[in-house]
Amino acid sequence: MRLVLLGPPGAGKGTQAQRIKANYGIAHLSTGDMLREAVAAGTEVGRRAKAIMDAGRLVPDEVMIRLVAERIAQPDCARGFVLDGFPRTRAQAEALDALLAERGERLDAVLEIAVDDDALVERISGRFACAQCGAGYHDRFKQPEVAGVCDVCGSREFVRRDDDKAETVRARLEAYQAQTAPLLPYYRDQGLLIAVDGMAEIDQVSAEVLEKLEAAAR
Ligand code: ADP
Ligand code: ADP
Ligand code: ZN
Repeated sequence: MRLVLLGPPGAGKGTQAQRIKANYGIAHLSTGDMLREAVAAGTEVGRRAKAIMDAGRLVPDEVMIRLVAERIAQPDCARGFVLDGFPRTRAQAEALDALLAERGERLDAVLEIAVDDDALVERISGRFACAQCGAGYHDRFKQPEVAGVCDVCGSREFVRRDDDKAETVRARLEAYQAQTAPLLPYYRDQGLLIAVDGMAEIDQVSAEVLEKLEAAAR
């Protein structure tokens, strides 16, 4: 199964992608995580991306397309993948279609996670993640079961993203509206778009995602 998750920053793409990965045994490809790893490792891509990410703008298409092309050729993507954070522009969407066509593959569905702007700011400002395994949490909406201990791996170390601050969030929301929202009609026209209500609680969103994916596969 090959899926794309679309939605504004903070909508819950990463949260739902982790569950889709666990449920279907497919790879979770987060381009944001890939870039943050490149920044931490000090690679050429990381050095180019850091300032752009801190400003809440989009990293150039050719950089992103190269990253994703290399990633989907890895063996763990053979059974499929869920893309989280890519494509974010029309050029990226067209490049993805071409990349998959070359491999004799195509997307099965594009899930749109719809959330109001006010809720996004609240979600982003309370977001944190396990430093060890990347599991996502929230100050208000998803605390670990045992305070200070990751549910998944038991680590006691957590991180917050540099770009999850109020000034940057506004730029990221604007980039989404201007550059990424036009992908909704692009995929709707291809008959791939499935909308889910991202305002519901996390478990309820997951239930709707799985239900609609099952229905689409029938
Ligand atoms: P994205 O990958 O789209 O930026 P995340 O999955 O990181 O979004 O979610 C942003 C924050 O909101 C995280 O702290 C996450 O725990 C929380 N969150 C995700 N989905 C929901 C939801 N349905 N209701 C409340 N909080 C949520
Ligand atoms: P969020 O979870 O808030 O939607 P991501 O983790 O997906 O954010 O992305 C963080 C930042 O990384 C973006 O603001 C952007 O600067 C960069 N980025 C990630 N994916 C892409 C992409 N496909 N195209 C351009 N920039 C990207
Ligand atoms: Zn963990």
